[in-house]
Amino acid sequence: MALPIVAVVGRPNVGKSTFVNRIAQADEAIVHEMRGVTRDRSYHIADWNGVPFKLIDTGGIEMGDDDAFQSSIRTQAFAGVNEADVIVFIVDGRTGINADDEEVARVLRKTSKPVYLVVNKMDNPDTMDQVWEFYQLGLGDPWSVSSLHGNGTGDLLDAVVEDLKKVETDDDEEEDGGINIAIIGRPNAGKSSLTNRLTSDDRSIVSNVAGTTRDAIDTVIEHDGQRYTIVDTAGLRQKSKIDEDVEYYGFVRAMRAIDRADVAILVIDGSIGLTDQDQRVAGFAADRQCAMVIVLNKWDLVEGPDAKAEVREKITDRMTFVGYAPVVATCALTGKSVHRIWEAVDVAYENFCKSIPTNQLNVWLGEIREGGHTVSKGKAILRMKYVTQTATCPPQFTFFVNRPDLVNDNYERFLENRLRKSFDLTGTPIRMKFKKKD
Ligand code: GDP
Ligand code: GDP
Repeated sequence: MALPIVAVVGRPNVGKSTFVNRIAQADEAIVHEMRGVTRDRSYHIADWNGVPFKLIDTGGIEMGDDDAFQSSIRTQAFAGVNEADVIVFIVDGRTGINADDEEVARVLRKTSKPVYLVVNKMDNPDTMDQVWEFYQLGLGDPWSVSSLHGNGTGDLLDAVVEDLKKVETDDDEEEDGGINIAIIGRPNAGKSSLTNRLTSDDRSIVSNVAGTTRDAIDTVIEHDGQRYTIVDTAGLRQKSKIDEDVEYYGFVRAMRAIDRADVAILVIDGSIGLTDQDQRVAGFAADRQCAMVIVLNKWDLVEGPDAKAEVREKITDRMTFVGYAPVVATCALTGKSVHRIWEAVDVAYENFCKSIPTNQLNVWLGEIREGGHTVSKGKAILRMKYVTQTATCPPQFTFFVNRPDLVNDNYERFLENRLRKSFDLTGTPIRMKFKKKD
């Protein structure tokens, strides 16, 4: 399980590195330096009261560009909000609030993540009155500390790790049922046969639990230590009349399953090839923004390399809207290559949940800018200032640009292709947003 992340943000000179070093050197904390993602990034693993976490000093994040906005204080705050579970915002108790502090506070007030407002350099308990002015930042009670001497830092960490424990339990709950999978596709494509293959190996079924909709039965299975829930498989293992109802199967059922799935496995009958109905069902999964794996089943019935290539080509040509979905050819009858579905699902899910650090994204954006490919209308030219990931499952990227209205479908596709080239996003859709920033 990934360690929870505590980000330390604040303008230069407030004492961020002193604070981080204080925690790093405290006897109670076990800390060791990680080889950082970038040289400038301060990145530690710490442990407080038995709770391990990552500690990031966002002041050290290199944006790889000299654009004023990118190196600004806001960037840091965004990075903190984007990547962390808990944010420690440090201000200087000696100098009081300044405009940069207000800038950061404005960003932090919008996040639902826990934010600790830490008034540093409170070396002398007699000067406590100075902390009250920081209430103005609208971030709740200020914590008064002296990173230099260590006053107050222990109490602060006690509170921080209490929050981190909550983050961990949330993760555990999610992990219970593991990855939610919907197996969709036309009747007779081989869904039941595949489901039986996927669930019968090594007596993998953990439990059958009632799904959230009437007559839905979810199957929880374990494979190589990972849990998967195959959602709404009623009627798959035990065929019912419903199977004969093409409309019902193709749409209502698929949609219900897709609604609850992280990953949709679209089963196509390879002996028939891609049909309109397959495309429509894939369209639903794409609309609902599930990750996707395409399974070409009954591959044993497709004879010769030419026929095989033809089936694959048609998918490449007509399924461009889910071009990110890996294609796995299987034979459910014999079980051949069925194990590859697991690998594809794992990759798709990992990418679906992927979080790309802001600094890497902005190095990438720098390359795009250097490439010179942009859009313009009349005299107006699109300028992209900064990009950050603003959601996961699926990943969403927000671009801060001078003129969002200039962005067209072509350009979005260009950016998507470039993102996919630079970062592994196989199996997952991505979303892009464009916001105005002068
Ligand atoms: P950063 O730029 O935010 O990482 O700030 P630094 O950690 O480099 O600290 C800036 C200056 O403030 C340094 O000279 C520190 O020694 C000083 N400083 C940091 N914390 C404290 C503190 O708690 N009390 C006092 N008096 N000085 C501090
Ligand atoms: P579902 O309606 O999508 O659940 O499809 P089933 O799993 O019930 O399979 C429909 C028919 O195709 C059954 O007769 C299966 O035995 C057969 N079938 C499934 N997978 C394969 C395969 O990979 N190769 C061949 N030759 N037949 C298959």
